[in-house]
Amino acid sequence: MLLPQEIIRKKRDGQRLTEAELRHFVAGITDGSVSEGQIAGLAMAVWFRDMDLDERVALTMAMRDSGTVLSWQGLGLNGPVLDKHSTGGVGDVTSLMLGPMVAACGGYVPMISGRGLGHTGGTLDKLEAIPGFNIFPDNDRFRQIVSQVGVAIIGQTRSLAPADQRFYATRDISATVDSIALITASILSKKLAEGLDALVMDVKAGSGAFMPDYAGSQALAEAIVGVANGAGCRTTALITDMSQMLACSAGNVTEVREAVAFLTGEYRNPRLQAVTMALCSEMLQSGGLADSDSRAQEMLQQALDSGRAAEVFARMVAAQGGPADFIDDPDGYLRAAPVVRPVYPDKPGYLASTDTRELGMTVVRLGGGRQTAGEAIDHRVGITAMAALGDYLDDHQPLAMLHAADEASWQQAANSLRGAICVTSQKPKEIPLIYRRIN
Ligand code: URA
Repeated sequence: MLLPQEIIRKKRDGQRLTEAELRHFVAGITDGSVSEGQIAGLAMAVWFRDMDLDERVALTMAMRDSGTVLSWQGLGLNGPVLDKHSTGGVGDVTSLMLGPMVAACGGYVPMISGRGLGHTGGTLDKLEAIPGFNIFPDNDRFRQIVSQVGVAIIGQTRSLAPADQRFYATRDISATVDSIALITASILSKKLAEGLDALVMDVKAGSGAFMPDYAGSQALAEAIVGVANGAGCRTTALITDMSQMLACSAGNVTEVREAVAFLTGEYRNPRLQAVTMALCSEMLQSGGLADSDSRAQEMLQQALDSGRAAEVFARMVAAQGGPADFIDDPDGYLRAAPVVRPVYPDKPGYLASTDTRELGMTVVRLGGGRQTAGEAIDHRVGITAMAALGDYLDDHQPLAMLHAADEASWQQAANSLRGAICVTSQKPKEIPLIYRRIN
């Protein structure tokens, strides 16, 4: 009989774990026969000893199989099932456009998203800013929306990779979150449970990224691509810049509003557009819908220009319980913050750098994110019209518009925004938007 303590000991001593040992341990996490102390013990052993590619694949697949693995067969879908996952950022609203854009090009996107985590925003919180939007349709309805509309965005249910839910909670309180092997298994167990044909990973690098430095982002991207392909899901990754906000909005109502502006063509932030198009292009190519990046970009531009992507978004919102005419009148539905005013820099100059993590925390402190688990959030607050690196700012050219619930929180947020930037007299050098593609 395999004993959990013997499996932990083997890893502690730097030996490879077999697929059978990993499956046995994960089964124990799921059925409760492995204790929280034993989970922490294995996590710490992996943190120090790491895992090779075979072990990572075996752990990921065991965690994926700990719950329901969705199957899209039998629904008569005439295209590939595709998704994207991002390591999270500030002003990263790509999912809201990417899902409809890929669906408008023939893909099916059953996206299972998360809530805000730390300084990063969450797609589910953003969608809940739309009145009536239901992020927990039952499984039959989820499948129906994906097959009829092409995209649905929902929250993780307890039946999806339950081993990860327990494993992650224990890692969180045992200083073992930051292990590449464990992060990879955690992220991919959930994504692979969606029953995907292909996946693209958006791994962020820079001051607002989850990983502390570029080398860490690159190692994570390589690990995810290696393990996901090893598990049979065609996967590529882009390492994209998070040294500034991606969109010019951060928050919930504010980001949804920017997504609508993007889809309808009212306004497209060039950085947001470039990253969204690049990620969509990876999905179309991996899914066999386009044979080159240029063909994929052409198809995506067509989906935007013809209004088809906007129409898919509108249908998804309606199918998930939101207003049928949401995209025609977003301002009629999205609640505005009571105090909305521009913030100016302390001194004139070029915006040279931003502490993007702090920008995200400013939104959290305004009430747009959570300070304790399960807390209600204020969807109205946030940032819009954020200046980009290299923009010249002075008494007339604001850093951003701040949306707050009251005057006191506006003042506090304005101070933290000013403290989170650096302006210089020389225009800074441009930073690449997409650092690397990994396949
Ligand atoms: N996100 C996850 O889902 N899991 C991790 O381990 C880290 C980030």
